[in-house]
Amino acid sequence: MAARLSLAAAELNIGPIRVYSCCFIVCTEVDMAEQTEAKGPLPVVDWVKIPEGGEPYLEGHKCKACGAIFLGERNVCSKCGSRDRMEAIKLSNKGKLYSFSIVHRSFPGIEVPYVSAVVDLEGGGTVKGNLINIDPDPANIKFDMPVEVVFKDALGRKDRDGNSYISYFFQPAA
Ligand SMILES: [Zn+2]
Repeated sequence: MAARLSLAAAELNIGPIRVYSCCFIVCTEVDMAEQTEAKGPLPVVDWVKIPEGGEPYLEGHKCKACGAIFLGERNVCSKCGSRDRMEAIKLSNKGKLYSFSIVHRSFPGIEVPYVSAVVDLEGGGTVKGNLINIDPDPANIKFDMPVEVVFKDALGRKDRDGNSYISYFFQPAA
């Protein structure tokens, strides 16, 4: 089952959410190249929020007209077309596994196999990321299994100023 899903999930485009977890790290590194001093962990994407003295969380934007939730800022709702009705919301750190794909071949230097997952968060929001702390074997991974969002160092990557990155991952819910 997972093998059949592999290609589909890799090219998955769920409405407005299209995120490739391998490449956004590279993009962020380029963006940060102009900084001159290390400022501590940086969010790997702009919708990972790290409040001072608080726990990281994922931020979504919810349409006040129709309730649709998106990742990333936008002025217009792509579901109902309303303009300037979007508000930032904190997304849940719990959800259910909607789909997954076990990746056996990736970019050079990326350790494989790993589990690429699409998760529906409680209360809304669909997010793609890697499922960790589970054996990458389809026998162990079930659709709709409960998962939680965890925030960790982004595999040791740093920008040229020495800033590390905080990324999000999914793991089986405790
Ligand atoms: Zn809307």
